[in-house]
Amino acid sequence: LKIEIQLKNTDKKISGIKNILAVASGKGGVGKSTIATNLAVSLVKMGFHVGLLDADIYGPSIPLMFNLEEDKIQYSILKKKNNSYVMNPITSYGVKIISLGFFSKSGEAVVWRGPMATKALRQFIHDTDWGDLDFLIVDLPPGTGDIHLSILQDIPLKGIIIVSTPQKISLSDVHRSVAMFRIKSIQVPILGIIENMSFFIENKTKKKQYFFGKNGVKNFSKKMNIFFLGEIPMLQEIREYSDLGVPVVLENDQIRKIFEKITKNIIN
Ligand code: ADP
Repeated sequence: LKIEIQLKNTDKKISGIKNILAVASGKGGVGKSTIATNLAVSLVKMGFHVGLLDADIYGPSIPLMFNLEEDKIQYSILKKKNNSYVMNPITSYGVKIISLGFFSKSGEAVVWRGPMATKALRQFIHDTDWGDLDFLIVDLPPGTGDIHLSILQDIPLKGIIIVSTPQKISLSDVHRSVAMFRIKSIQVPILGIIENMSFFIENKTKKKQYFFGKNGVKNFSKKMNIFFLGEIPMLQEIREYSDLGVPVVLENDQIRKIFEKITKNIIN
């Protein structure tokens, strides 16, 4: 089945933003938002001006990752600038963040049809006072859908970063995403793929256990000709800090170094 999608990427720059990178995954739950969060904070630590747009309209998890859920923040979305109103990002750990989660109570479902969601997203991107940014990281929803097409159409993306766990079920959906990003009329560069939850280290023996299989993403990346950006172990602290709403790179040296290396691989 071959579907022709006509996208007219307007190529229009968003003034003040130098590089827009999107983080994608095939399935949900593979660590995409965790990685988008820690990537953004790692870039701040390296001295860059960074924004983070939560484009996962139906399941925004960036507020949770920064402990910025609706009931915890005093937030006024609009501010006046040059006689018109613009949206105001929240700055946390140096990252300028916009998410639908700032406006909806946790536990409330966002029940919108595609066009409404893409309209909201368009406003988030174009009507937010981002200021001057070296990088805007976009946390995409999992899979391939309306939101992806709209972003690919509306935003001049520098490239995509893919996150996957090593097992087949995750990679088969990544395969679909890669196919979408490589459709002739889309053709956005895939900067590389990150393997998350690669292994865990057994407490007693200190041996690496490849719970989801060894080198799944590495082999896939070779086959698909995608740059392998690095691997992140399965670590209880990663889950604990994301539940606390603290980016783990600020607290755990091992993870900080891993993210530093991955971030350098991405920007070099
Ligand atoms: P996605 O954005 O792909 O849906 P999340 O980033 O929300 O996934 O992560 C899903 C869950 O897995 C979160 O609880 C997160 O803390 C946890 N997690 C992600 N990566 C790891 C890891 N490497 N080790 C342990 N827990 C992880």
